Amino acid sequence: MISAPPAGEGARTLLVKIFGKDRPGLTAGLFETLAAFAVRVVDIEQVVTRGRITLCALVGPPGPGAAGGEGELRATVHAWAEAQRLQAEIISGIGDNPSRGSGRSHVTVLGNPLTAEVTAAVAARIAAVGGNIDRINRLAKYPVTAVEFNVSGVPTEELRTHLAKEAAARSVDVAVVASGLARRAPRLVVMDVDSTLIQDEVIELFAAHAGCEERVAEITAAAMRGELDFTQSLHARVALLAGLDESVVDKVRAEVRLTPGARTLIRTLKRLGCRVGVVSGGFTQVTDGLRDALGLDFAAANTLEIEGGKLTGRVTGEVVDRPGKARLLRSFASQAGVPLSRTVAIGDGANDLDMLNAAGLGVAFNAKPLVRAAAHTAVNVPFLDTVLYLLGITREEVEAADAQD
Ligand SMILES: [Mg+2]
Repeated sequence: MISAPPAGEGARTLLVKIFGKDRPGLTAGLFETLAAFAVRVVDIEQVVTRGRITLCALVGPPGPGAAGGEGELRATVHAWAEAQRLQAEIISGIGDNPSRGSGRSHVTVLGNPLTAEVTAAVAARIAAVGGNIDRINRLAKYPVTAVEFNVSGVPTEELRTHLAKEAAARSVDVAVVASGLARRAPRLVVMDVDSTLIQDEVIELFAAHAGCEERVAEITAAAMRGELDFTQSLHARVALLAGLDESVVDKVRAEVRLTPGARTLIRTLKRLGCRVGVVSGGFTQVTDGLRDALGLDFAAANTLEIEGGKLTGRVTGEVVDRPGKARLLRSFASQAGVPLSRTVAIGDGANDLDMLNAAGLGVAFNAKPLVRAAAHTAVNVPFLDTVLYLLGITREEVEAADAQD
């Protein structure tokens, strides 16, 4: 027996679309009906939204030994659908889906709530730059609504530039990431600590104990805005801590508050076999504790010098500054045997920018405008696990993995 030619260019195909109340057995029922006509399956797409199924089957023409021709197939499918109280539509045509255009990206839109206005604006901007939306699905409904558009036909960088303008104008998070294996399976994720992994700025916690909170906060803010050289500001701030009793270290460790979603992010990344590290312009006295508590693979920070039970107001060793953070990302990647293209960096401050740009994907997390503008992508909702959505991981998958343990 000679099999039918592939339903590529020029071959007749039938698009069978079913819509109605979902229940188990519908997909089986449709294909059992089609099986009587010995058709070949070219494509299947099925979604269920609020209990309603949309099932599309693209099939070849009735084959050898079929129960009848195309007319009989149509009549049989319609009769089956009617018996199931479903709507059916059958459209004759030629060939398969046109292949997707080059320049493929994932556009994740985070909203809390996600409005129709924002959705319209994002979709219109994609269309205006020549992109085609090939597929849309929801990644999460809580604590934010996250939807992903699969877009083709426009280079990722170009799409990102255009959508960044839309995002800024509408105060919504729109992340544009190139398609590819590297996205779903990053091998190394490196995070900043202060105001990224944790909600606090560690030096401000120390400063509160030293009674120099305001002065330190001023210097921190200026440094994070990029107005001050990080190393100078670090030395200036640490100097204000001179004479503080070393017992404050334990107090500060206990005061540190993880960012919501931090544990979920790290736990899920580790399940995916990903290595996770932190780099901080803060202090090893705190980051070592976080490394141990969270099971991190890498941690690097500055070390507060302690002599005779007191902070000296100095740091020891090489300062972890803006270029230092990028250097550490490269060093962690090489230790883990991971190419930079498969790394993700997350940070909020100006001193994270080199690291964010060196990584395969740089995520500005609730960052200052300067950082947001310069990073590959930005998240401005206060949940660290939303980074998973940028990698195409759904909340459902995260919860299922948690339930399994
Ligand atoms: Mg920070």
